[in-house]
Amino acid sequence: MRLIRAIEPPFIKDLRPGAHLAAGAAVEQLPAAVSSSAATHCPYCALQCGMHLTDGPAGVGVVGNQKFPVNEGGLCVKGWSAASILDHPDRLRAPLIRSPSGRLEPATWDAALGHIASRFNDVQRRYGPDAVAVFGGGSLTNEKAYLLGKFARVALATANIDYNGRFCMSSAAAAQSMAFGVDRGLPFPIADIAEADAILLVGSNAAETMPPIMRYFERQQERGGKLIVADPRRTPTAEWATCHLPLRPGSDAALANGLLHVLVRDGLVDQDYIRDRTEDFDEVRRVVAGYWPERVEKLTGVPERLLIDSARLLATAGRVMVLTARGPEQQAQGVNNTLAYINLALALGGVGKPASGFGTLTGQGNGQGGREHGQKADQLPGYRRIDDPAAREHVAAVWGVPASAIPAAGRSACRLLESIGTDNGVRAMFVMGSNLAVSAPDGNRVEARLRALDCLVVADFFLSETASLAEVVLPSAQWAEEDGTMTNLEGRVIRRCRALDPPAGVKTDLDILCALAAALGKRQYFNFAAPRDVFEELRRASAGGLADYSGITYERLEADGVFWPCPSVDHPGTPRLFAETFPTRSRRARFHPVVHQTPADDRDADHPLYLTTGRLLAHYQSGTQTRRVAELHEAAGEAVVEMHPATARRHALADGGRVALTTRRGTGTFVLRLTPAIREDTVFLPFHWGGAQSANRLTSAALDPTSEMPEFKVCAVRAAPAQDSNPA
Ligand code: SF4
Repeated sequence: MRLIRAIEPPFIKDLRPGAHLAAGAAVEQLPAAVSSSAATHCPYCALQCGMHLTDGPAGVGVVGNQKFPVNEGGLCVKGWSAASILDHPDRLRAPLIRSPSGRLEPATWDAALGHIASRFNDVQRRYGPDAVAVFGGGSLTNEKAYLLGKFARVALATANIDYNGRFCMSSAAAAQSMAFGVDRGLPFPIADIAEADAILLVGSNAAETMPPIMRYFERQQERGGKLIVADPRRTPTAEWATCHLPLRPGSDAALANGLLHVLVRDGLVDQDYIRDRTEDFDEVRRVVAGYWPERVEKLTGVPERLLIDSARLLATAGRVMVLTARGPEQQAQGVNNTLAYINLALALGGVGKPASGFGTLTGQGNGQGGREHGQKADQLPGYRRIDDPAAREHVAAVWGVPASAIPAAGRSACRLLESIGTDNGVRAMFVMGSNLAVSAPDGNRVEARLRALDCLVVADFFLSETASLAEVVLPSAQWAEEDGTMTNLEGRVIRRCRALDPPAGVKTDLDILCALAAALGKRQYFNFAAPRDVFEELRRASAGGLADYSGITYERLEADGVFWPCPSVDHPGTPRLFAETFPTRSRRARFHPVVHQTPADDRDADHPLYLTTGRLLAHYQSGTQTRRVAELHEAAGEAVVEMHPATARRHALADGGRVALTTRRGTGTFVLRLTPAIREDTVFLPFHWGGAQSANRLTSAALDPTSEMPEFKVCAVRAAPAQDSNPA
């Protein structure tokens, strides 16, 4: 397969901050050279931009789909360059088995599947069924996420399945479920952003992570709407804002409580809404009374005046939206932080009203659908709880097994990794759609745990850092080579169509799961000829659940997608939730009192700065794909630390030099870039690289007690001139 360089947009290399506008621009028409095209969606983030995969004399390329309402033809540089990974020379094209000499050697599919079945059977015979674990990913299609959950419980009979969405969405999911009774990232279409009069956007650099979304913020501002961005960095998104709140990492609950304190003090809460649609506000009112602006300035670093003005701006605008992202969520207080922002949105009276309310911007491609259909440790399809007897009966009937055969809840991601090699712990693992050697916190420890496994099996299309540790690697198909559905950040279920055949020797993930189940003697539960068949079973399994897909068919997804819940084929889907009631027992939304707590790994004299991590415009998640795209690698080829010039002076560091960052878990050396657009007490490091460039070798695995999400976004760090002279 060749690539069409002729249709590459001229701004592909323009990856500077602020280039998001150009990168989000729409292409007017398919290039003349294109002989055929297939409508599909981007393989990367949760915006799931519509695109055409085009085929012409020069090969395969990508253009934006103007008819898809989310991105209206706009794509970012990652989407524009996505076709180049399809025929990348690094593609795995045959299974690999580690030989006695320690090398990964090509093998036949029969040999690889037989080897895995034998090794997993042996581990389970010796240590019990839960000794084999399954680890999934938030970029897997709904069909794969569903089948992976069934594979764990039926083919392997193990309780231990979790996925990398635990690192990404679990705090927002838990908080929304607690407050609203259901977790859907945005309970309204993304276009509502353009209609809001004021938006508080917390811990999201959307202008770089999902640039086409900025068209909605642009329209909002053209209408005279206001945008407040809370972030320790003055990001390109914060540059866009009416007002930037440069909060200290780890101080979100104090900031949200401080804003609500001002609303209560000044009589600006929506009393009617609180009375008619919510419960438990009194305790929240009592708690936020302790967050007066002067104290909040000390806790957050946000000037008192800015806090008061922001609260009044939100209270006096008509339609107000509060949006969070990974900034407040990826903390040991992630659920409480999110609840504190939900309290604010509820007190403003907008949840369930047009162009108002609370939402969270999902990150991974299927960050929404991937958390609904059973690849979480405590979950069954349709957002059902695995400890609910009725849910177990329903799903068991669909699967054709007794309910008693479905294991109980297993360990969540970090606990699962931590258990490797311990008594009653995990001894073997099957990983699909995740590069946890790069994406999990405290990476040195994670790598040691992965090496301690009796058997690691990884399905991937490249030899990722995790796959390179495996005993068996299975080559899998990419997004354009298989059918499937995704659920974007709005809760809109869309269809990603197969446009190309996988390379010879490569199987789709669904085929891999079915073949492996057959090798384990469970063929009868995995007789699926095509992704559509899996989706049909998912529809039945989700029927009656919170995330009900039973009314969604592949045919209905041919246009703009369908919002869940959709309980019947004649149901129009549900773009907006909570208009009348909330799916809680009282039918009301619940306030939750939240108290600010310091980060689990707080600063001291030895580690006087905060380290925070995040994404860059040029890369997606662990970088397995985007680091292999020449243009993206050229734009951002290594992890670069951002630091304030005043901080650098205090540490005898210079712009462009190398800095050693040391946390309580390890040291890494990186190139340093000085910028006044970051707090003096904070350094930023992107997390798209592995090995010596890994940010997550430094991050903390402290967990939120409710969601068990790790604290990626804040830990204590020391900075010093690097002693090594060689770039990593
Ligand atoms: Fe759209 Fe996200 Fe893909 Fe960029 S990475 S093109 S924002 S879906």
